[in-house]
Amino acid sequence: MSTSRLTPRFVVVGGGPAAGAAARRFAEAGEAVAVLADEPLAPYDRTVLSKGVLLDPAAPVPEVWPPDAGWRERIFVRRSTPVVALDPGRGVLTTEDGTTWAFDAVVLAPGAAARRLAVAGADGPGVLHLRDAADAARVSASLTEGSRLVVVGGGVIGLEVAAAARQRGVEVDVVEADPRVLGRVAPPAVADWLTRLHERNGVRVHTGVTPQEVLRDDGAVRGVHLSDDRVLPAHTVVVGIGVRPRTDLAEAAGLIVDDGIVVDPSMRTSRPAVLAAGDAVRVRGPGGSRGVRLESFTAAGRQGEVAAAVALGEDDAFTDVPWSWSDQYDASMQSMGVPPVDAEHVLLGDADAPFVLSLVGDRPVAACGVTTGPGIARPVRAAGPVIAHGVPLDVSALRAVGGDLAALARLLREASRG
Ligand code: ADP
Repeated sequence: MSTSRLTPRFVVVGGGPAAGAAARRFAEAGEAVAVLADEPLAPYDRTVLSKGVLLDPAAPVPEVWPPDAGWRERIFVRRSTPVVALDPGRGVLTTEDGTTWAFDAVVLAPGAAARRLAVAGADGPGVLHLRDAADAARVSASLTEGSRLVVVGGGVIGLEVAAAARQRGVEVDVVEADPRVLGRVAPPAVADWLTRLHERNGVRVHTGVTPQEVLRDDGAVRGVHLSDDRVLPAHTVVVGIGVRPRTDLAEAAGLIVDDGIVVDPSMRTSRPAVLAAGDAVRVRGPGGSRGVRLESFTAAGRQGEVAAAVALGEDDAFTDVPWSWSDQYDASMQSMGVPPVDAEHVLLGDADAPFVLSLVGDRPVAACGVTTGPGIARPVRAAGPVIAHGVPLDVSALRAVGGDLAALARLLREASRG
């Protein structure tokens, strides 16, 4: 066993946006930092994986850091280097090759793994997931014109895969367990609008059903047997049924885990000098409430930054309202915040551009909109500050502007200024 001679004081574990942002923050502060990533790429932008890469298998997967930034020389990336143990008491990490890494502070950003479909026939060739660059390359290669694809899960990943597949001339069925697609991220009006868009583009969306078995002939996928006894023919199945946070390392190290590595808003875990960020963490809410685990590229980046700043001894906290977007065909969906189940959804905008504000009482908690035209980003972004500060809203004034997205944005901005 060797001990790394690099021994920077700071170590980041992970290869996604949280890890990338944490390393950048350390390096910009003049500190050396080691990034230990289990994938063969440097930290890279995963948002292109379910978008550009599926339309064009040759599309580049960009690194998260600008290529010519001077501070990059202080970042030491070890790729294909899984971390297998963490000893918070001694301040030491161990990688699979037996190297130990002493740290003054570590940021854990291991991300999340795709949930697997637990039915007969689901293990084997032709059943794919979409989480990392290698997955995206496999899914993209499978989208051959005239072939048949069954997408399991009508979440963001499933619908983005469905849209790309249609654009590449693939026959597509989407199988969603819930009565409606996009239950985790979008209110009913937006979900229904996107369902109709998919149907107009030739996708068959089956809700309220689940796969019971992936049928095979001589090992090759030939179809999916559904819970209502129908069989959908298929050459390929893509499974997009959510993720589970990668908490094994943290759990084995004795950190508190609760469907996510538990952190406070400064991204501190239950052990000193161990911070965590990104899709793997659950950020405790005010008063120690259970809080939320987010799956958001922008939130992950900001959390990584906060973790590094706090490791450097600064005061910082993650208080952002999470923002995310999805591109499907020529439509763009944008959302801000995560509505609790008891939120009331107020439908604004118009039939071409539904914009939904989710309220608890008269306080907005989330906003979401979709359109094929421009401009949906405006009211969604403008909703950020009113959501962050819980500004009470006069819904009738918002309704009065109809489908004018710029006017909606203006009213929301005015409300946030009080
Ligand atoms: P992702 O990020 O993978 O898109 P989401 O959580 O946004 O994850 O969406 C996953 C979707 O998959 C949800 O709409 C959920 O209802 C659906 N789902 C989960 N399990 C199954 C299943 N066994 N069959 C069909 N749909 C499922």
